[in-house]
Amino acid sequence: MSIIEDNEIQDLTAEERAELENEMASFAKEEKSRLGLDREQYTEDIHTHFTASQRAHTTLLVSGLTVAHDELVVSSLEGIGYKAEMIDVPNNEALQVGKEFGNRGQCSPTYFTVGNLVKHLIKRRDEQGMSTEDIISSCLFVTAGACGPCRFGTYVTEYRKALRDAGFDGFRVMLFQQQGGLKQATGEGVGLELNAKFGFTIVRAMIVGDVLNLLGYRLRPYEVVPGATDAAMEKSKAIIMDTFRRGGNIHLAVLKSRKVMGSVKIDRSQPKPIVSVIGEFWAMTTEGEGNYNLQRFLEQEGAEVHIQSVTNWILFMIWENKYDTEYRMELREHDDAKKGLEGTDPTKKLWGLAIGDKAIRAVFHSYAKLLGLNDHHLPNLDEIASLAGKHYDNHVRGGEAHMEVGKLIHFVEDKVNHMTVSVKPFGCMPSSGVSDGVQSLITAKWPEAIFLPIETTGDGEVNVHSRVQMMMFKARQRAVEEFKQALAEAGMDEETFKKRMKGSRRRSNPFWRPKHHYIGVAANMVHSM
Ligand code: SF4
Repeated sequence: MSIIEDNEIQDLTAEERAELENEMASFAKEEKSRLGLDREQYTEDIHTHFTASQRAHTTLLVSGLTVAHDELVVSSLEGIGYKAEMIDVPNNEALQVGKEFGNRGQCSPTYFTVGNLVKHLIKRRDEQGMSTEDIISSCLFVTAGACGPCRFGTYVTEYRKALRDAGFDGFRVMLFQQQGGLKQATGEGVGLELNAKFGFTIVRAMIVGDVLNLLGYRLRPYEVVPGATDAAMEKSKAIIMDTFRRGGNIHLAVLKSRKVMGSVKIDRSQPKPIVSVIGEFWAMTTEGEGNYNLQRFLEQEGAEVHIQSVTNWILFMIWENKYDTEYRMELREHDDAKKGLEGTDPTKKLWGLAIGDKAIRAVFHSYAKLLGLNDHHLPNLDEIASLAGKHYDNHVRGGEAHMEVGKLIHFVEDKVNHMTVSVKPFGCMPSSGVSDGVQSLITAKWPEAIFLPIETTGDGEVNVHSRVQMMMFKARQRAVEEFKQALAEAGMDEETFKKRMKGSRRRSNPFWRPKHHYIGVAANMVHSM
């Protein structure tokens, strides 16, 4: 091709121009082919076809949170006419399957959760003798999704890829979005009616699961008969699940469970360190090998564990939306993007979010009161954001966003716990930046914090447990010192304290909480006398 100057183009005849354009088009084609760019654009087959007529013979597989949450979600789905089944808590076998069929370089929760679904389907096929076609036509998986900005945004694609490679091409993965409310991934099919009733049913099951779990973690460390709390939780779950299935009155079921939970005998005269578990949402929530059974391990080591509830996460999503809306209101004239505010009434939206926040808190507290979870405070998310904001920008999202930073400062400043463990999954981008980066600054500014970030890869259990044990030694010492200080301030010896504890019906009541003056429960018991 000869080189033509700009001014020469103007002098070309129509024929010469056409010839030039043809020449350029064939050159572009050759180049595309040489560079391997002449392939069809890859599009993924999205299998979400699920119609109302399929509902009666299609099982929704549920997994991803704590056992109590998953079980309650299953029974609540059954109560509104779905067939549902819970998948086991992800374990190391699931992690291996996830690594075998997943993409390289994912974060460990992706491998655990994706692998867990594939492992379950393989079991159905190889151990229960179901054909692959039957599995694909009779089951589907429901999971939460979001647009990111971390790998959470690609979970659903990971599920599809692993399922395809494991021989389950066509298996349906239904997604309800975290951002923008409950939505079906595609508009196809109305088998899964993601309406207000569905949303309320799921959210209610999660809140009840939270309340039950929180009470369980509160009682277990002090139970007189080992295993009594777990047994009471099983009974309580059975009552609530049965009510969900029958579509009965959940408030009444929770009230009945109060009797069961109240039968657990406890002795809170021993000082125990309070240890909060924070970090990446899935890794801090799961109760299995995904975090090396961290909560149970801490309890074995003598801790009272403070877990983070799913309700906190729901409240954070509402807060996020409110924060972004307020920010976007200033951009209104130019905000014509898909989720922009142009043409909408942002004040109305803010009111809606404020009502949503209040409603979630009200539902939580109503169940908490009925079950006996007294004095549990849901977080003030504006306060957490402002505490964190100076060290971690409130606009940065992904993982727990600024929450991990804000929570740690709040724990130290408001004397909430003796120690904080942050669970950071291997390969997690947001969590690594926070736990390894920003939290170093926080612990330098608040040196009294006992803070332990642990990384979960699936194969570092011994190492993680030994690091937890080392830090627990410090936390135990701190709890004992505080207890002795409380006794000294009250002018009481330990023997008298224990006698008074035994003789007090109020203090043996598993639901009664002393006022918060010290961190530990035993020290607060002393203070209450
Ligand atoms: S927060 Fe981290 S662990 Fe969780 S999905 Fe995102 S990248 Fe993975």
